[in-house]
Amino acid sequence: MNLTLFEDGRLQEIHDRLLVAYGPPPLRVPWPPLRQFVYSMLSSRTKTETSHEVLYALERHFKSWERVRDSSEDEVLRIIAPATFAETKAPRLQKALRRIARQNGGKLNLDFLHGQPIDRIRKWLETFEGVGPKTSASVVNFSTIRGSALVIDSHHQRIAERLHLVPKNTPTAETEKKLMSLAPSTWGPEMLDDHHSLIKLHGQRACTKLQWQPHCPPCPLLTICPTGKEVTSSRDVRETIRR
Ligand code: SF4
Repeated sequence: MNLTLFEDGRLQEIHDRLLVAYGPPPLRVPWPPLRQFVYSMLSSRTKTETSHEVLYALERHFKSWERVRDSSEDEVLRIIAPATFAETKAPRLQKALRRIARQNGGKLNLDFLHGQPIDRIRKWLETFEGVGPKTSASVVNFSTIRGSALVIDSHHQRIAERLHLVPKNTPTAETEKKLMSLAPSTWGPEMLDDHHSLIKLHGQRACTKLQWQPHCPPCPLLTICPTGKEVTSSRDVRETIRR
């Protein structure tokens, strides 16, 4: 059997089933790379709604990234306080903004990344303190760079493990590499973005971190999910014994 073709079909199958269950994800309007970079830095371990509120508050209050960079750390911290680990994120963000301007001839934007090789962009982004594969993938895939990368957040990691696509505790970068190797070659940046959104939605609504077992029986992925099959078969056995 051609394993590559088999596995390639599996990711498409997951995608198709989730698409039927949840419908197409909302169309993303890509942001400029610097805005996406700032958002992704702020959003680590923070709920999506809170991260958006913090970004908007930052933009409303400071009006420009230059003012975020040049204001006092206390003022930035006060505005981003609702984000998790705000006290770490405030100095990191200002430090990153200072470095970007320094390396970009004084201009505070990341527009120079357009057209650069994706691997090079990600490697460079990951040299910033607190920036890992999830943030670099978001900047590359979600922003106007619109490059091929798959954002692996905690939902994606958990579901990939439960589906046995990767072993437990696989580092994010390796999970992304494995899933990218399973993605159909026809998937462009937008499809990878849609796939991320569908998996995230499934992780928020059904395959959650806690108390996810009741969601297995009606789950659209059950027949291809080893973890779900295990949960439902042990539940069947328990119910048979109870009867
Ligand atoms: S069957 Fe259960 S474990 Fe598997 S993806 Fe669905 S909810 Fe998650």
